[in-house]
Amino acid sequence: MAAKLLDGKALALKIKEGLLAEINSLRDKRKNSPRLVSVQVGENPASEVYLKSQRKNAEALGIDYSLEKLDAKASQDDLIKVIDKLSRKASVSGLIVQMPLPQHIDAKAISRYISPLKDVEAVHPQNMGEIVFGRAGICPCTAAACMELLNSIDSLDLYGKEAVVVGHSEIVGKPLALLLLNKFVTTTVCHIATGERGTLPDFVKRAEILIVACGKPGLIKGDWIKEGAIVIDVGINRVDGKIVGDVEFDRAQEKASYITPVPGGVGPLTVAMLMKNVVEAFKLQA
Ligand code: NAD
Repeated sequence: MAAKLLDGKALALKIKEGLLAEINSLRDKRKNSPRLVSVQVGENPASEVYLKSQRKNAEALGIDYSLEKLDAKASQDDLIKVIDKLSRKASVSGLIVQMPLPQHIDAKAISRYISPLKDVEAVHPQNMGEIVFGRAGICPCTAAACMELLNSIDSLDLYGKEAVVVGHSEIVGKPLALLLLNKFVTTTVCHIATGERGTLPDFVKRAEILIVACGKPGLIKGDWIKEGAIVIDVGINRVDGKIVGDVEFDRAQEKASYITPVPGGVGPLTVAMLMKNVVEAFKLQA
């Protein structure tokens, strides 16, 4: 039987409805609205879709949105000054530094200058660290989106399940592994070295929950999927003008019990989680 689709779009709409109500009630109480500021250095076509989506989603929820653009030649110090100014500004609730940054700027160094209370993408080491203690108020958006998708499956009890996360990036794979561990999921993380060693299929075949975030179209063969597994495909790849994930969808759908479509799975939920973080940050600064 074909797997059920995990509809990220529908779930995102539901979450945003809840956020809209919450923002309206907070505005009535506090007489001000959340404000999200995105900082971009130079132009990058890869950022444009995300920036548009930030603005559209924020404005639909009554979150004030603005984009601060710096010249491509702006120095690391110039950027730090802007981040510092926005971090101190009482009217700013959430702050994003748009990636990728030009090569002369060290993105990891920059993340330390964002106020942890306004760090709505959870890139500050303090917010990353809080995940270890299971106290994350503000969580990396895509990792949170994957957890939200799992939580949307009523029949799923995460306790003791075997999960395999393929991809160990700082924004997705690593925080996600911790979020799963916090729910007592037995979690294995695979990465490029697993792929090079040739053992990736062995790990994937064991996974009751499989989450893939690599950016390699078709990396995960449908035949590797365990019968009845839950498959979350984070990958976004453009192939022949179409957006596809990292998992061979058609064959995987025959074997899995639940699977995310690409597009329409994790993507829309990631933006909803960003908006949720903006509301969380607004509350933290009350
Ligand atoms: P990344 O590009 O920083 O890292 C890729 C990861 O994949 C690394 O951990 C690497 O070791 C692993 N990897 C690469 N080749 C492999 C192989 N052959 N076998 C096993 N592991 C391998 O990762 P990222 O920034 O998390 O992005 C991953 C994908 O997720 C990209 O397609 C990106 O566009 C997408 N993404 C989607 C969303 C969303 O909202 N849907 C958000 C973030 C990223």
